[in-house]
Amino acid sequence: MKGFDPKAFKKGKLAGVMGLGKSGQSVARLLRKKGWKVLGSDARPKAELASALGALGKKIQWEWSGHSERLLKCAFVVKSPGLKPDLPIFEKLKAKGVPVFSELEIALAFSPAKAVVAITGTNGKSTTTQLTYQIFKAGLPRGRKAILGGNIGIPLSTSAPASKKTDVIVVECSSYQLEDSAHFEPRAAAILNLTADHIDHHGTMAAYIEAKAKVFREQGPGDACVFNIDDPAVYKLSRECPSERLYFGTPGPQTHAWEEKGKLHFRMPGAKKDVVLVPPKLPGRHNIDNALAAGLLALARGIKPAAIQKALKAFKGVEHRIEPCGAVRGIACVNDSKATNVDSTMVALKAYEPAGKRVLLVLGGLHKGSPYTPLKPLIEKTVKGILTIGAAARRIEEDLSGLVPILPCSDLATAVDTAVRIGEKGDTLLLSPACASFDQFKDFEDRGRQFKALVAAAAKAK
Ligand code: ADP
Repeated sequence: MKGFDPKAFKKGKLAGVMGLGKSGQSVARLLRKKGWKVLGSDARPKAELASALGALGKKIQWEWSGHSERLLKCAFVVKSPGLKPDLPIFEKLKAKGVPVFSELEIALAFSPAKAVVAITGTNGKSTTTQLTYQIFKAGLPRGRKAILGGNIGIPLSTSAPASKKTDVIVVECSSYQLEDSAHFEPRAAAILNLTADHIDHHGTMAAYIEAKAKVFREQGPGDACVFNIDDPAVYKLSRECPSERLYFGTPGPQTHAWEEKGKLHFRMPGAKKDVVLVPPKLPGRHNIDNALAAGLLALARGIKPAAIQKALKAFKGVEHRIEPCGAVRGIACVNDSKATNVDSTMVALKAYEPAGKRVLLVLGGLHKGSPYTPLKPLIEKTVKGILTIGAAARRIEEDLSGLVPILPCSDLATAVDTAVRIGEKGDTLLLSPACASFDQFKDFEDRGRQFKALVAAAAKAK
């Protein structure tokens, strides 16, 4: 499929940027620098947008409180991944023949570095991307850099154009970004798992899966794609992959990476012997999977096992993902604010299964539409009490009644306070809310930071 070709659009013409968040602003700056005039368009009210834009506001044209037909005058438009594809303006742009690109495509079109390693999946993207980045950083020869991009860190429109030809870009790809990319051809890619999330955005599970499949659709000989062999949807999709398929998960004739007796084993096609490595010190089976995927990506691109081992050993995990954040009266506190869906909370609870029923679980926030009932079996095994917060509290209480005591706390401060009061030495207070955060917090990071601050304050007071 044809992607963004800068030569196809005359400089000096107007380029639209829809959504002026961090990456939208970055792509606006890039396009301006490359010689286009920019029309930024955002749903936020004027004053809020003006303050978000700062100095950029004087350099580009911009509109607020929605996306007007001025965008139809643009030679092309860059769409923020968060914008729903069924907005009426997209229909109009299509009718007028104005192409719409993703920030990912624009950034990569101006990137001297062409080698891209891409990670996607429903859960585990950030962790695996960070780990893969650390591995490439440790393993690329002197003079070559690993560049981290996508959903995390510096926007790709800032970092990729500043790269050197021989650098490697490690990028986290959400289904939204992939959906918007007509052309994307990473040298190595990974699909970690596929469960129903963001269906409200994509419309159907099939559309969501197809968005993820874009990570390998345009790959060719010499490229590789890493798949989770234990995830039926991922495995099924892998049969359509045109590049070399590398599987991680349960050991078997088709599996290239697995865990055995606490070690990670890698059996690369054509290699004379297996590579055996020590996993990172992180809780949960899911982090073994993340390390297996990252290891396969690195081995597929020729990174030496010693460098992979060094990075695995040094990896401390990512903030807000089952992050230990201190203890109060012997109660270990863990911030898993990133668990914004039921699946992620299940993953966190699984990590606490060996300890028995010692978890005080904070659940709640903005309801995302799925029932909480799938949590029941794990709650029975791991949880001694549930503390509910936020708008979803009532629904959670209904879905999970009769299993363990449920204490309605309404807000996070009350939840921490209650847990610290009723908890015993050896318990774990786990914030893994299974809900979005926007009812009471700016975002999941804000929720996680507030939790850590509350824990720190409680520890000080005791
Ligand atoms: P993403 O960027 O895809 O949201 P993160 O790395 O930020 O993923 O992890 C978010 C949450 O997803 C974690 O807190 C954990 O509960 C869960 N998770 C992480 N890795 C995996 C995995 N490989 N499989 C399933 N769930 C995972």
